[in-house]
Amino acid sequence: MKTIIAVYIVCLPLKSLTVTSPFGYRIHPLTGRMEYHNGVDLRANHDTVYAVLNGVVRSVRADVAFGTAISLDHGEVTTIYGHLYKPLVRPRDSVSAGQSIAISGATGQVTAAHLHFSVRYRRCYLNPLNFLYEIFKTTNHEQKF
Ligand SMILES: [Zn+2]
Repeated sequence: MKTIIAVYIVCLPLKSLTVTSPFGYRIHPLTGRMEYHNGVDLRANHDTVYAVLNGVVRSVRADVAFGTAISLDHGEVTTIYGHLYKPLVRPRDSVSAGQSIAISGATGQVTAAHLHFSVRYRRCYLNPLNFLYEIFKTTNHEQKF
């Protein structure tokens, strides 16, 4: 996997990252039940959301749980951005890392405005923060040479 992601330029999905709900099993804030959270929730309220990698917009859709959500296709990696207020891209648009793709909001099942951010590698959801960190590390490492 490192050889695949080493060529990518990576950006953060928001100007600053504050995790309000982590990746993995958690008690759902609305249902009170244990559930698997396939991404991280980041503090955001009508903030600009950025593409983390170069890619193509796979879908812009309205989801019951994730509200207005954008999926970006980066080859074997897909990134998903949920609870958006306003998408700024359309399906099949090409996006570059760091490009504004949406304004965050509170659509779908939420208790407060935030950005839900998921990273999927093939059929597996990864911890998005570990994923970003791994790419940063690889990129920084490469810049030394
Ligand atoms: Zn979430």
